[in-house]
This record gives sequence, C-alpha cells and structure tokens, in this order.
Amino acid sequence: MNEFEPRIYETLRAQAERTPEEIKEGLKVDFERLLKNLNELEKKFSGLQEKTESDKSLDALKTLSISKEKKKEARELLKKIWENTIKRIETETDAFSDWEDTGMKSGLINGLNKGQYKVPIRFIRMPLSIYLRDKIRHKGKFRTEGRFRNKGIEFYQKPPDFLDIWLTLIEKGPAAGMLLCLDHELIHALQEVETIGLAMAVLKMPGENRALGEMHAYKSSNAICLRRPLTSKLIKHIQEGYKVKNLDQLISAADSIDKLKALGLNDREIGQLVAKAFWIEKNATWYPLDAKAAELSSQYNLENEDVENLVLADRMERKIQSLKAQIIALEEMIQAIDSLKELTKEIHSKQ
Ligand SMILES: [Zn+2]
Repeated sequence: MNEFEPRIYETLRAQAERTPEEIKEGLKVDFERLLKNLNELEKKFSGLQEKTESDKSLDALKTLSISKEKKKEARELLKKIWENTIKRIETETDAFSDWEDTGMKSGLINGLNKGQYKVPIRFIRMPLSIYLRDKIRHKGKFRTEGRFRNKGIEFYQKPPDFLDIWLTLIEKGPAAGMLLCLDHELIHALQEVETIGLAMAVLKMPGENRALGEMHAYKSSNAICLRRPLTSKLIKHIQEGYKVKNLDQLISAADSIDKLKALGLNDREIGQLVAKAFWIEKNATWYPLDAKAAELSSQYNLENEDVENLVLADRMERKIQSLKAQIIALEEMIQAIDSLKELTKEIHSKQ
C-alpha cells in the first residue's frame, strides 16, 4: 500500500466543492511544511552522501577485485538489491508517477530494452547522416542520442547497465543523458494524435507546434533526481536547437504545461492536448491547453494567484518525492557496498 501523502491537486479533486469562505480565502498551501520537509530531506541526503562518497563507491563496486567465479555471484547480489531499491521507491514514494505514462517505470524495472512502451524502441548504431548533422550543423556541441520517427524510437547507444541507472538515481550519473533522452522521445510518442477530426487534421500545418511539443517533452523528461532545468534555460535551448522564431510560443507553452501538471493532468493527457494544439497569435496562447487550464481552475474555484501557488507547490512536492527516491537509492547502495565487502572478505579468507 502506498503511504505517501496525496499531492495538492489530488486533495482538490477529492473535494466535492469548496465553500464560499474557502474560495474567498484562496488556496491554502502549507509552504512552511513543504519547505521544512524539503530541508530535512536535503540534510538527510547530503549526510548520507558525505558518509559514503557515493560517486566513488560505485566505481569501487565496479572495479572491486573479485575473482572471476565470484563476479557472477556479486552481480546477482547487486541485482537483487537493485530490484529491492526499485520496489522501495515504488511503495515509499510517488517519484515514479512521472515515469508511468511513458513506460519508463517498466523499463527501469525490467531493463530499458524490455520496458513496455507505447511505441517500439530499437537500439541501433548511429546512422552516418545523424553523425554528420551533429558535426556540421551543431558543430559537435550537440549529440543526438535518439529520435522519434516512423512511429518508433531509435536509439544510438546500448541500453545502460542497471548499475549506471542506479547511480543516476542517486545523482546525475552516466545514464542520466540517456534516460532523459529516452523519456523525451517517449513523451513525443504520447503527442501522437489518437482522435482527431478530419477538419483539424487538414487545418494543421506540419511542425506548427514544435515549440509546444518540445517544451512538453523537455519539461516532462526530467523526472526523478534529474533536476528540472530552469524554464529560462529551456526556452533558450529550444529556441536555438530547434530554430523556434516565436519566443511567445515558448513562454506560453512553458506556462501552460506547468499549470496543467500542477492541476493534475498527466503526460498522456497533456500529450493529447499538444496533438491538437493551435497557436492563437492575438492572445499569445496555445489552444486548447490554456482553455483546459482555465476550465480546471474554474472547476476548482481557483484564482490566478491560487494557480501560481499550486505550480510552486507542485514543483516542491515533486522535488520532495525525488529526494526520497534518491535517499532510498543511496541507502540501498550503502547496503550493497557492505554486502560486497562481506563477499570479498569471504573470498580473501578462503584464499
Ligand atoms: Zn524533442
């Protein structure tokens, strides 16, 4: 059973109706409690980090002088502890909820090449055309790790080892780029049209909502421990990397996606809105994303200021969940190191 506290939007959803007095008072978010919670978790995490120097510990794990025969045993032991880590994160935190819609959660549990995704994923060698494009157009500053095309995702690397993913969960480890990229492409798969009227399909220009699609993919693919980049950085990155000329489109996209997430929409639901989206120049808004945020706000009787507070609180709540996941991953890593020490001790005493 999950014991974690419900998110604020869940509380809002559960409320049948807020009384006129409650509405007048505005949405009460207990920022003090959230902040206290965050501080305590941060302290606990850095305490554990200091104790273990986790970054070096994993290297130690990998290079441990274990005899060939014992290596298999050591790996099996680590795998078991890793599986327990995943189980603990799943039951003790809400951190995986962001990776539910894309299937990333199943990828973490079963191995990235065995996840249950909406579209097939192929791990292949990077085509020469992509390599040259990165080198020439992006002057080697940008490396394409994968892409969504022909209703599937191709990936230009081998899937990372579970130990790399483990380290990524503790801190931005070697698999971080790959996990982000995979989730990013999977978000694009959620933006594929599921139901669309013919009129809309004809009216829409291909590539029209690139700014919106990319903002959604970038904002969402930074789940668990991978620190969400600042919106200002994302705007610059998408503007330059994807040659988006209209800055308003990016600003409005970031704003709408933050609000919809804080109001409780998941990536599949947002993806379907993105699929049908239109840019309305005179209001500088994305339809129907903005309309949906307005509809939910009025359903919950929220003023603009309430929604802003909700966005802020949502960010803090997600950070709390990801810190909890990081702590679990680190605690289990400490246990793994101890168990391996036991194993090597056993080997040395036998020799
Ligand atoms: Zn993209």
